[in-house]
Amino acid sequence: MKCKLIILVLIFGCSAQITSAQIEARYLLGQKSEASKQAPRAYGSYAKGCLAGGEELEINGPTWQVMRLSRGRNWGHPNMIAYLKRISEKVAKETSWNGLYIGDISQPRGGPMISGHASHQLGLDADIWMLPAKKLNLSRLKREKLSSISIRSNDKKLINSNWTNDHMKVIKIAASDQNVDRIFVTAPAKIYMCENASGDKKWLQKIRPFWGHNFHFHVRLKCPIGSKVCKIQKPTVNSLSKGGNGCDKTLIWWITDALKPAKVNPDTAKKKARKHPRHFTMAELPQQCTDVLNSK
Ligand SMILES: [Zn+2]
Repeated sequence: MKCKLIILVLIFGCSAQITSAQIEARYLLGQKSEASKQAPRAYGSYAKGCLAGGEELEINGPTWQVMRLSRGRNWGHPNMIAYLKRISEKVAKETSWNGLYIGDISQPRGGPMISGHASHQLGLDADIWMLPAKKLNLSRLKREKLSSISIRSNDKKLINSNWTNDHMKVIKIAASDQNVDRIFVTAPAKIYMCENASGDKKWLQKIRPFWGHNFHFHVRLKCPIGSKVCKIQKPTVNSLSKGGNGCDKTLIWWITDALKPAKVNPDTAKKKARKHPRHFTMAELPQQCTDVLNSK
């Protein structure tokens, strides 16, 4: 009898514990092919959160095309969708590009993804290709197969001949929108822009050097008004650049020490020990994400 009881406790104990809260969020949020029918809200932080009431960016627009359609990551907060339309129109008007090739934004309900990105969870991050968008009638297949271009030299210290003045114009247009929190790009591009931008250089404050980001640049928007559970990123770009434009000595590290073979660095070891945001369970995300998941 005692034995049976123990078995019963084990069975019920286990089944009660295996709830959706314990499942990695990417297997649940990542399954949804439509946005939640809720008011638009970004919940959590860029690498730990989700998106309610997402909007789909049409795969073809007058001044953009969505790339890699099979991924289904062309969903964002309505602020992001409006932003991409607005800046791509400006790019088409003010540069030799006909618009923008848009890479990943977010899944329909945001959250961690099956593969790739740590961030892009709130519908407030978007990757924009460095390949100038000249043709806006690419087939679905072409959008899977075509690669972007790297604008960085092989030794990672300089920009290369793929870089044009229009790249700077495009990134300036992208950064000058007041909704933008910051833009990540490879350090040599920031260095080039610091040395060659003319006029008011305030926009450069939002350009942050980062690993990779030589095939695309990554735009991050601010938390939308009304998204009270959206966490703004700290440190802010203003504090990182001490109120300046970030065209300072800190950039040199990226093209010198950062490129040296890695010693065992306690920070990297710590990073490795930390859980990758892809593996967050539903329970680890803000509780509102469960409503986002279960909503129609
Ligand atoms: Zn990105």
